[in-house]
Amino acid sequence: MTENTFDVVVIGAGPVGENVADRIVQGGLTVAIVESELVGGECSYWACMPTKALLRDAAALRAVRSLPGARAAVTGELDAAAVLHRRDAFASNWDDGGQVAWLQGAGISLVRGVGRISAARTVEVTGADGDVTVLEARHAVVIATGSSAVLPPIPGLADAAPWTSREAAAAKAVPGRLAIIGGGVVGTEMATAFSALGAQVTMIARDGLLPTVESFASDLVAETLKAQGVALHLLTEPESVRRDETGTVHVALADGTTLDADEVLVATGRKPNTGDLGLEHVGLTPGAWLHVDDSLRVDQLLQVVNSDGTPVDDGWLYAAGDVNHRALLTHQGKYQARAVGDTIVARATGAPVDLAPWGRHSATADERAVPQVIFTDPEIAAVGHTAASAEAAGLRIRAVEYDVGSVAGASLHADGYAGRACMIVDEDRKVLVGFTVVGPDVAELLHAATIAITAEVPIDRLWHAVPAYPTVSEIWLRLLETYGRAA
Ligand SMILES: Cc1cc2nc3c(=O)[nH]c(=O)nc-3n(C[C@H](O)[C@H](O)[C@H](O)COP(=O)(O)OP(=O)(O)OC[C@H]3O[C@@H](n4cnc5c(N)ncnc54)[C@H](O)[C@@H]3O)c2cc1C
Repeated sequence: MTENTFDVVVIGAGPVGENVADRIVQGGLTVAIVESELVGGECSYWACMPTKALLRDAAALRAVRSLPGARAAVTGELDAAAVLHRRDAFASNWDDGGQVAWLQGAGISLVRGVGRISAARTVEVTGADGDVTVLEARHAVVIATGSSAVLPPIPGLADAAPWTSREAAAAKAVPGRLAIIGGGVVGTEMATAFSALGAQVTMIARDGLLPTVESFASDLVAETLKAQGVALHLLTEPESVRRDETGTVHVALADGTTLDADEVLVATGRKPNTGDLGLEHVGLTPGAWLHVDDSLRVDQLLQVVNSDGTPVDDGWLYAAGDVNHRALLTHQGKYQARAVGDTIVARATGAPVDLAPWGRHSATADERAVPQVIFTDPEIAAVGHTAASAEAAGLRIRAVEYDVGSVAGASLHADGYAGRACMIVDEDRKVLVGFTVVGPDVAELLHAATIAITAEVPIDRLWHAVPAYPTVSEIWLRLLETYGRAA
């Protein structure tokens, strides 16, 4: 058994853990990071990077085919093998050597193995050879262990060798027929990718497609998927799944339909990687999401007391990224990582901690301005509230919509450009609190909205942010004109 003491111990070297560790070192403290699989986490090998690589070629081809002159230069179909090959490179061929070198260069100590909390400030790491290393943290332990796919308890599913997002992202070949259970972001993106790569795709979505985005956006994606030959079975669910001796998967639906496929992808949500983390040793519930306070400290622990009545936690346990369930997105987890890293350094060095809204150590954007791009055809980009979520939050709002295709820049961008945008204005404060746009290549429009929401730019001032002509950004002008200007 080896023992080591560091200022901070981070469990999980995904994008979030890596960024926490980096901030800790930048702040002059020592840090060890524990990783049981690949340094870089889900995002690098099985999520953001490989899935976007699977989608990119088809998006480029669509863009070319939307212009008659360019279309004439394209004579063939998508080369699926070349797409998968390029995807392999974007997943670094599932080799974390590059990221390990980065950790070393940054002065971060890597300890490979499964990390478990055995007592306050103590993490035991069990390596592949069974050796245990005990890590003591002088100041803090940060849990950044991420999330993994949920397998719903559908009879027969577990025995049918289903794909999760991992197998889809790392697929070595395109199946002839792919059934997808789940109509959220992962389900719709993978339907877009695999149907473009040549699979016959069927989706089963109990709650409809993309139920949390503005319906004009999800409706357009549903229409396009249908036009591309994806069969949609909405508002029904699988009752049983069976893979027969020939390898065919049979999915029996509640509405009486039976679907046949070569592979079945389950995309029905995520669960926290906290089941085997030793949480029971500090009074927490294994398998649960970790709720955090504004400084990303695990707040459930603050309520647990020792036998002498003192709190178990005096500020040593933090959780960042997917595992705290605030926003399951890499960029938002990395934002939390910057906040939590700086908070731990400030507390350790006696510097002031600024947890006021939008303060240096507060992850305020998690609550007000989480940007997300859904890389379907067409793309959806959204930040802040939808009309429904704003109303549910009790805001007095006005939602203003406009067809993106009517903007000169959009009609130049692609023939037949179909898209729509909506801005949500808080009528009491006259600031933007939400923005959604759907259309080809809209992803890069999003950051303007994120800035307007985080900076709380008054609507009157937005009139002075003049979009260049002829760009798709003129959608901003059209939305403001539709909203109207006070006399
Ligand atoms: C298919 C798919 C596509 C996605 N696409 C996007 C996208 O385009 N953009 C975007 O922003 N987000 C995307 N996401 C979400 C994104 O992948 C996650 O938000 C992000 O990976 C979370 O980072 P994390 O560091 O919190 O966790 P993870 O990336 O899951 O990393 C956690 C790390 O902790 C390790 N670990 C777990 N338990 C232990 C333990 N006990 N001991 C040691 N190590 C442990 C794991 O091995 C892993 O390496 C996607 C997700 C999926 C599933």
